Amino acid sequence: MDKTILITGGAGFIGSHVVREFVNKYANYKIVNLDALTYAGNLENLKDIENATNYEFVKADITDAVQIFEVFQKYQPDGVIHLAAESHVDRSIADPTAFVMTNVIGTVNLLNAAREIWKDNFEGKRFHHVSTDEVFGALGSTGLFTEETKYDPHSPYSASKASSDHFVRAYHDTYGLPIVLTNCSNNYGPNHFPEKLIPLCIHNILNNKPLPIYGDGKYTRDWLFVIDHAKAIDLVYHKGKNGDSYNVGGFNEWQNIDLVKELCKQMDEKLGRNPGTSESLITFVKDRPGHDLRYAIDASKINKELGYAPSVTFQQGLSVTIDWFLSNEEWLKNVTSGNYQKYYEEQY
Ligand code: NAD
Repeated sequence: MDKTILITGGAGFIGSHVVREFVNKYANYKIVNLDALTYAGNLENLKDIENATNYEFVKADITDAVQIFEVFQKYQPDGVIHLAAESHVDRSIADPTAFVMTNVIGTVNLLNAAREIWKDNFEGKRFHHVSTDEVFGALGSTGLFTEETKYDPHSPYSASKASSDHFVRAYHDTYGLPIVLTNCSNNYGPNHFPEKLIPLCIHNILNNKPLPIYGDGKYTRDWLFVIDHAKAIDLVYHKGKNGDSYNVGGFNEWQNIDLVKELCKQMDEKLGRNPGTSESLITFVKDRPGHDLRYAIDASKINKELGYAPSVTFQQGLSVTIDWFLSNEEWLKNVTSGNYQKYYEEQY
């Protein structure tokens, strides 16, 4: 193998697509997937590649500095792609400390281990930190987040991600650690945990349950198909400029209410139900505190500098996503049993 790449959070939603992309595309890389397997981590997401000769899974917790250093010592990675995180805004409102531990302390533990193992000789090394557009705060009805937009996080989740971004940049500026960052908009696609809007609605339509929409449904997000995010990470990891960050998005803004209506339309068609059947399940629920009105990404830097463009339209990506959930009901059933059920009942 030419190189070893450590991918953290590889059993999660986005991480599993990144691991698959790298394992399938780079036979000359050894891909080590480091994940603590929290409620959001699921090795079922990687069943198709688990026996690949260039893939290995390591169960480890990034909040444990000693354990992380041992993993780095054992595998001597040339690169790190860091996705492990607590990722759900509503959970961060209920328990911010867990987000500080994983997203801030966990990131610093990885940065320290990389520095130590690479012994400040950074030739051929790279630390790629995967982050979110939520660090930029909220937009009004116009404007886009660029790489120069001032950080202004509002939720404990986005505050913890913003902090981790600052630490990654600080290790570059202070120690010369070779880093790149990506700040991506909302992802959707196969393997998405059903606490998030799109899989939650698919799950609830299948079970004839209400589709909870916050406030008046006017919250606007930019949506990117998860496999297109994985491809952007591949591109930035290999071609991004040392020290730079890249916004990743699809120029694809949707108000929540319109998105859910589009989803309902496709679900009715695919399930052979009368038009309007799923839409009748839409229920407006009390807003979450500190809810940001609109996020929208200006992805022209990654487009111009690295030639990146998403491969599917939203309608195409949504159709693939729904088809995946319809043919993987067992996956959905497994992840929605036990603890998820308790969480769901507390939320709605
Ligand atoms: P996810 O919650 O689906 O997966 C997170 C993974 O990290 C899980 O496999 C979990 O087991 C693992 N993990 C959590 N705590 C850990 C710990 N202490 N040690 C080791 N592993 C741990 O998250 P996701 O949606 O796939 O997001 C991945 C990354 O991408 C996150 O950093 C997130 O901030 C970022 N991001 C997500 C989105 C999105 O729309 N989901 C958008 C932009 C950026």
